[in-house]
Amino acid sequence: MSDTNKMSLTTKVLIGMALGIAVGLIINLTGLNAQGSLVNTYVVEGLFYVIGKLFVNALKMLVVPLVFFSLLGGVCGIGSLRSLGRVGGKSFALYMLTTAFAITVSLSIAAFFGIGQGMNLVSDVSFVGAAAPPLSEVFINIIPTNPIDTMAKGQMLPLIFFTILLGISIVMVGSKAKNIVNAIEVSNEIMMKMVTIVMAVAPYAVFALIAKSMSELGLDLLAELAGYVMVLIGALMFHLFITQMIVLKVFSGLSPRIFIQKIREAQIFAFSTASSNATIPVTLRVVTQKMGVNNSVASFTVPFGATINMDGTAIMQGVATVFIANIYGVDLGITGYITVILMSVLASIGTAGVPGVGLIMLSMVFVQVSIPIEGIGLILGVDRLMDMVRTAVNVSGDAVVSTVVAKSENQLDERVYTDQEAGIQNRDLEVDLDAEKALANSYEETKNRRS
Ligand code: ASP
Repeated sequence: MSDTNKMSLTTKVLIGMALGIAVGLIINLTGLNAQGSLVNTYVVEGLFYVIGKLFVNALKMLVVPLVFFSLLGGVCGIGSLRSLGRVGGKSFALYMLTTAFAITVSLSIAAFFGIGQGMNLVSDVSFVGAAAPPLSEVFINIIPTNPIDTMAKGQMLPLIFFTILLGISIVMVGSKAKNIVNAIEVSNEIMMKMVTIVMAVAPYAVFALIAKSMSELGLDLLAELAGYVMVLIGALMFHLFITQMIVLKVFSGLSPRIFIQKIREAQIFAFSTASSNATIPVTLRVVTQKMGVNNSVASFTVPFGATINMDGTAIMQGVATVFIANIYGVDLGITGYITVILMSVLASIGTAGVPGVGLIMLSMVFVQVSIPIEGIGLILGVDRLMDMVRTAVNVSGDAVVSTVVAKSENQLDERVYTDQEAGIQNRDLEVDLDAEKALANSYEETKNRRS
């Protein structure tokens, strides 16, 4: 086997990402990205767009069936329904706590640097805040009236509710449901195999996604908003490397160094897709196969976190609020700050982890503290890049809480966590020819028996 084949998927994806940054920036700096140019039409908006979109579609395609089967298997395998309640309670509390902490720290950092003070930016991009669902609707919709419709729409919270209730009912039926439980386990394994297949093309897809984003980056805008961008990225990095790692160490005693190494794969996908939801298959794979979190915990905490936990988004809201308030000369005062903290924690519950949703949440926050919503137009141009970075922080937060909760429930295999080789994907795609033949034979046998 050649060296390239032996290279782990994460390494290949990292190479794809680095090449994507390089190629995208070259296109950007040489002006080849000009509207209507050949490169822009056929390469950036053609090839890169199509490859990237196909891959994101494939990831999204996996989310609903994967969450359904893994969560169903998780509920059936958790052993006691009481521990299910504990996992739910602990993860909800930790998600809210870390998000509240994230926004508090980011408001403080932004206020300390006084970003936006004395700046005289005028937005030439109009921003109309999209409506976010009112919180009462979010709670009401947790119970779906039609689970098929929920699945079709990929709504995470009602899907989680329906699946948990179905799992509890299967457990209550008991040994009569043995065959179903077996089928669920196998279905879960099949779905994980589908993730492996889709991931095999990830290096090329990540290249295309990143190259497209980089070639479209408004570099002059980035320079103009350098203060905002630098403070935001600094606050995000602080949260990722300091706050989240303290939470991991204090609550679980696990090594942050290993965590940072292993989470990289999920971070790259979050960065490339800017969507925690589309990254669910990867986060689930990393958390279970690389970090040793039992599926009974991860199958709940990961999709739950992708929906309600947005530390990175909360940090953006903190920095953006201070930045735009300063530009418009709005004095927030202590009540303003507290309102921002509460609003952004609540807003994170109701909005799904998809690209750009942070801005919808930001407009909800602005309304509460009387900052003009058009102000969001000022940061719109750099938001895609910021979205990519904050989504990586969002999924890291999901993984930290999953690991901490699993450890506290004795559902974490520390041998897997410390094993550097665990979950490394390089040969998973090889088909076991004997198993393939055995499966075909058993299919034939069943068919013959029936006829
Ligand atoms: N894109 C983010 C996520 O999927 C949400 C946001 O901040 O816009 O987690």
